[in-house]
Amino acid sequence: MLDSRPESSPPDRAEIRRKLEAADPATLLLALVQLTGERHWLAAAQPFIRGPMNYQEFLPEELRGAIRDRLAEVLADGLTKGRPPDDALLREMMAVATGETVADDYIAMMREDLTDDTLQSRSLRWRKPPDASALQAADVVIIGAGMSGLYAAIQLRQAGIPFVIVEKNDAVGGTWYENVYPGCGVDTPNHFYSYAFEPNHGWSHYFAKRDELWRYFDDIADKYDLRPHIRLSTEVVEARYDETSTRWQITARGADGQTEQMSARVLVSAVGVLNRPKLPDIEGLSAFAGPAFHTAQWDRNFDWPGKRVAMIGTGASGHQVGPSIAPDVARLMIFQRSPHWVVPNPNYHAGVDDGKKWALANVPYYLRWYRFQLFWGFADGLHDALKVDPAWPDQDRSLNALNEKHRRFMERHMRSELAERPDLLEKVVPDYPAYGKRILIDNHWFRMLKRANVDLVTEAIERIVPEGVRMKDGRIHPADALVLATGFKVSKMLLPMKVFGRDGRELHDVWGDDDAKAYLGLTVPGFPNFFILTGPNTTLAHGGNQIFMTECGVRHMMQALRELLESGHRSIECRSEVYENYNRKVDDTHARMVWTHQGMTNWYRNRHGRVFAITPWRLVDYWKMTSRFDAAEYELS
Ligand code: NAP
Repeated sequence: MLDSRPESSPPDRAEIRRKLEAADPATLLLALVQLTGERHWLAAAQPFIRGPMNYQEFLPEELRGAIRDRLAEVLADGLTKGRPPDDALLREMMAVATGETVADDYIAMMREDLTDDTLQSRSLRWRKPPDASALQAADVVIIGAGMSGLYAAIQLRQAGIPFVIVEKNDAVGGTWYENVYPGCGVDTPNHFYSYAFEPNHGWSHYFAKRDELWRYFDDIADKYDLRPHIRLSTEVVEARYDETSTRWQITARGADGQTEQMSARVLVSAVGVLNRPKLPDIEGLSAFAGPAFHTAQWDRNFDWPGKRVAMIGTGASGHQVGPSIAPDVARLMIFQRSPHWVVPNPNYHAGVDDGKKWALANVPYYLRWYRFQLFWGFADGLHDALKVDPAWPDQDRSLNALNEKHRRFMERHMRSELAERPDLLEKVVPDYPAYGKRILIDNHWFRMLKRANVDLVTEAIERIVPEGVRMKDGRIHPADALVLATGFKVSKMLLPMKVFGRDGRELHDVWGDDDAKAYLGLTVPGFPNFFILTGPNTTLAHGGNQIFMTECGVRHMMQALRELLESGHRSIECRSEVYENYNRKVDDTHARMVWTHQGMTNWYRNRHGRVFAITPWRLVDYWKMTSRFDAAEYELS
């Protein structure tokens, strides 16, 4: 399913014109400007663009037609390459792409994204290419063949560094392999949620479901010839850094329970954060008489039609399961402890039509500008809504003017969906500011709640009993099956694996019970030649694309490896003061953001309230921090 090349002989002008009809006019305009340098289109369009999404663009019909006519003309003439825009033009184009002023910080990042070979532009360039024996001596073990592990492998392969991926499952794909619950899918648009160098013009939907996502990652393993390097059904249980050999000694366990030893100069953890199911601390779980399972351990044989299903939890997973099974079950009882903010998105259930797919594959720069629009709309464009304005009056309700605006927008949506059901409305509107928990996209959740066979239960659960769920007031909700949509154990990152660094210190002793920290989320002093992908403070909560974060992290890791190899040293680790300073900055920034705000509960914080899981940064900040590599921040020995 990965992309083939664009059409080699383009269709004639009339045919192109017809195909352009389905593509977004604002995005076409950006492609046109980049191809031709004709700036006047920007000024003509600017007043009609209120945001980066296609449903925030209000160009008059005549202007839309003119853009498509001109683009058809230049494409039919065979124009496929424009001059790279200068800074002023790029600034103007970004403003039109988003309907807002975009700061100059984005220019360098966008320039990189607009290069023709987006794999090369993100790959390591050696300054003094090491010889073959030096490359061989820098061998890497990557733990995990999910999104991050596969990307690290691709970049190591590009650089000529040998690697092995050790994967506990019997297939690649990580979270997209493991989660098979009904409705499982992504809630970041796919044309953004893909590797920058592997855009996939063929996504069937704007927000793909699990099977298509898993196939994408599985195909990556073939396309980049990674399979010979992957050891499936093998779990790393322990890794120890040996100071004498300056190598990691790794203990792995196969499916048959046998352990084996491996060794590597460099160790990369790519195990992800959301893969150890958290069962609710409710008494009696094991006493339930029917099938009971966590969303991430969905029983593929579970036949829900006609059953009475009790579902505990209304986060991102519950939000996908509920509407998927509600039409078929006899009764769905949803136990909600706290409501989530939910945003509507007209594209959430929409398929991508063929004309749009054609434009993505064949109109030069269309896809890149589309990605930037999604990047803005789903990540950095929201960032100001997360910051506490100390002068803002009603801090229980919202944090600042933009946060209040988003709250009103979501509330309006809830009110319109539940106009005739004030009883439900009262239960679903959160009493905390928007973005305090992970934002959800409306998966027809409110329509589902209105179904006659669905109950939203907000009273406190007392215990699980064999026949169902007993409430504090003694009432029992009888159920045939119990679905636990109760999230993941996140606080003990990397467990159950044990990682012993210099002096035999175990990573979790360094971190304490639930206080994971790393420099840039990647490296920890005392753990030489060890890199963590999707590490502490790198998960995204308000939106965004986790693949972007991984691409940034891997770039930084590759630069560290370059430093190691080119300098002829055997180990590299970050300096303690760099680690401490960075984490202080993370904490100071978080202290002024929504997730630490008064009364907020979410899975991002440890028991002392410190946010350890998610990033406080804009994506562009993390891109900048990880693009630069300063050898002085590291100790080489
Ligand atoms: P989650 O967001 O942590 O939600 C867990 C839910 O279970 C919450 O509603 C929580 O209530 C409830 N809960 C937990 N313990 C409970 C108890 N003892 N009694 C009653 N209710 C209880 O977990 P998730 O939905 O699996 O999502 C986890 C993360 O995975 C997401 O934040 C997201 O990053 C990712 N994810 C993404 C997608 C996607 O579409 N891309 C899909 C699924 C998951 P409280 O809120 O009151 O704690």
